Amino acid sequence: MDRPGSITEQELTGWARTAPSRSTVWAPTATEDIAAHIGDEHPRGLLARGLGRSYGDAAQNAGGTVIDATVLDRIVDLDLDQGLVTCEAGVSLATLMQVLVPLGWFPTVIPGTRFVTVGGAIASDIHGKLRLGSFADFVESATLVTPTGKTLALAADAPKARREAWWATAGGMGLTGVVTHARLRLHPIETAWMRVHTERCTNVDDCMARMLESDHEYRYSVAWIDTMASGSALGRSVLERGDHATRSDLGPRQRRRVRDYAPRVSVEMPGWVPNGLVNPMSIKAFNEMWFRKAPRSHHEAIRSIVGFFHPLDAVLGWNRVYGSQGFLQYQFVVPYGAEAVIRTALERFSAAGAPSFLAVLKRFESGNDGYLSFPIPGWTLAIDVPTTTPGLGELLDDLDDLVIEAGGRVYLAKDSRLSPERLAAMYPRLDQWRTIQARLDPTETMHSDLDRRLGLRKGTPQ
Ligand SMILES: Cc1cc2nc3c(=O)[nH]c(=O)nc-3n(C[C@H](O)[C@H](O)[C@H](O)COP(=O)(O)OP(=O)(O)OC[C@H]3O[C@@H](n4cnc5c(N)ncnc54)[C@H](O)[C@@H]3O)c2cc1C
Repeated sequence: MDRPGSITEQELTGWARTAPSRSTVWAPTATEDIAAHIGDEHPRGLLARGLGRSYGDAAQNAGGTVIDATVLDRIVDLDLDQGLVTCEAGVSLATLMQVLVPLGWFPTVIPGTRFVTVGGAIASDIHGKLRLGSFADFVESATLVTPTGKTLALAADAPKARREAWWATAGGMGLTGVVTHARLRLHPIETAWMRVHTERCTNVDDCMARMLESDHEYRYSVAWIDTMASGSALGRSVLERGDHATRSDLGPRQRRRVRDYAPRVSVEMPGWVPNGLVNPMSIKAFNEMWFRKAPRSHHEAIRSIVGFFHPLDAVLGWNRVYGSQGFLQYQFVVPYGAEAVIRTALERFSAAGAPSFLAVLKRFESGNDGYLSFPIPGWTLAIDVPTTTPGLGELLDDLDDLVIEAGGRVYLAKDSRLSPERLAAMYPRLDQWRTIQARLDPTETMHSDLDRRLGLRKGTPQ
């Protein structure tokens, strides 16, 4: 079947570079092409892909078709009075920030990298350092092209069918169709700078206590955790909390560049990195240095947006540091009251000597109506570990069970190894999502490697 745009065969992986699979990648020329051709025959189904920043297999479709949604990259409308932007779904948050920050507006929710698309942000209902809501909570409306070629205007306040379709799409991991446009509610900012408060916490209990006590004084909050520490120092951490700086917060140097936002990539990881660079010894030394680098007691400083939100984006391809065997990120959330699970997880990672330089603890104060959305009120811990860590599979299966017992869940955008049985226990609204998904996709067109592995949608062949 002839389709406008380019068609190539590609091997795709997620950010953690495990479980590659080959797909036919279609880059359409315009959003209209999607509605016109989504109903074509697609053996082994169809899936949209953004910038491939999900860690596991969510944006892959082995043997099937993958739509490269990054070509849908137009900003359609900017309402600077109301703080609303309408764009195509392949626009990245990096582009949005570059356009919006100098104009005094900011995407309300941004994750730990700016290289994600609006479509990917909706499909994973991503969260950031903001405790009060996830991406979908700040989407006024979105356009979905369903597998039968219908174009639906979705919104949280739309009539029932389209409201349900919205909450099945937000967090629905691309399986309800292709998001082509979205209208986003922005946050006003006075400057392109952050006022950041940094403190060291002696262990994870100290860290959680400080977060509970005074997070409400800040808009953003995150703790970097030293996962190699143990005993009374278990989970020692650097807690960073911040707000957008006002003009009066700035010094003379920053006042000359009040709303300048020009992030740079300063280093690129080499294409080949030897396996074993990330090991218990190297990470112990790195974590020690990182912890000591933080001020011993309360410290406030003005930092750039990149320095606070996206320090890792300065190193292009940093995911290659783990070598050819890749890594995984385990991220889970447990409700308040289940702090023991956070402690146990850190104990187990520390005892296993799992070398991780990236482990962060955050809090959510709310969830939303997304059937498969990850956030619930509680604590979320995310930890990167090399796949070569001895006993990792068993360790994570055990943690899954503790998370389930506590009423928590793992994050599908980061997942590469969960089992279908545990998925159902973690997402109590899975069956409701399946019913709505089946209504939107009666031809069973939408598929991904994630959905095949987890049996996410009804009728998925394993
Ligand atoms: C360094 C780093 C830090 C991160 N930090 C965070 C964080 O703090 N919080 C957080 O929540 N996440 C975080 N993530 C994960 C990331 O935000 C999500 O995985 C996000 O979905 C990636 O967007 P993407 O455009 O790369 O989408 P992809 O990875 O390409 O796709 C992700 C999902 O979105 C679907 N999708 C993509 N485009 C569309 C579309 N147009 N229509 C329908 N479905 C679509 C895909 O089918 C897939 O299921 C981080 C990732 C990295 C690499």
